[in-house]
Amino acid sequence: MEKISNKVINRLTQYHSILVASIKKGETTVTSSYMAQLLKIDDSQVRKDVSMLNNTGKSRVGYDALELKETIEKTLGFSNPKNAFIIGAGNLGTALAKYNDFEDYGLRVLALFDIDKNKIGKSINSKPVYDINELSRYTKEKNVEIAILTVPADFAQSIADFAVKSKIKYIWNFSPAVLSVPVGIDVWNENLMGNFLQFSYKISK
Ligand code: ATP
Repeated sequence: MEKISNKVINRLTQYHSILVASIKKGETTVTSSYMAQLLKIDDSQVRKDVSMLNNTGKSRVGYDALELKETIEKTLGFSNPKNAFIIGAGNLGTALAKYNDFEDYGLRVLALFDIDKNKIGKSINSKPVYDINELSRYTKEKNVEIAILTVPADFAQSIADFAVKSKIKYIWNFSPAVLSVPVGIDVWNENLMGNFLQFSYKISK
């Protein structure tokens, strides 16, 4: 299958959430117009997106909810679990470590790393908190390539550099810092402040 654009991936994740909720309510089929209405997009957009997938369960009454959910999961690689470390066991890192739903989406947080001696050696949601200086060792030992960065902005770049040296390849960056990384390293910015500012700008108009 062709590489799917970020916009389509984003819509697929939203269809997935709708399907999960519908299945929970006991519904077996979901129509394109129902999903389109919820997302305030055109019906034809939903049909076009779904037609790109290898999904066969279309009937007159809509898509087979379970089948479409599974097709989206296959497309997005849910069934291919990914291990990750959280760097920064502060409030945000702790909240993410406690969020068990990640596992349903193929993300397994194995441990946290911190510099604070009061946090090292403890565990959060059964996940150990290790000394940041041990990152390289554990990255190799557990074959982990993803770091979830939840450290203060001022330290984010130096920790990103350290993570890259420790053989981390993908950084999910929750810190409000713009990171510079070498070619071959992927950063996904979870720009919480930026998103809030966009939202705030919109509602203050
Ligand atoms: P707390 O008050 O418990 O530290 P917080 O969320 O307010 O929580 P922040 O100042 O945002 O803390 O820092 C987030 C976490 O990042 C903290 O646990 C802090 O110890 C950790 N941290 C700071 N610098 C580093 C570093 N160089 N390496 C690893 N972790 C670090």
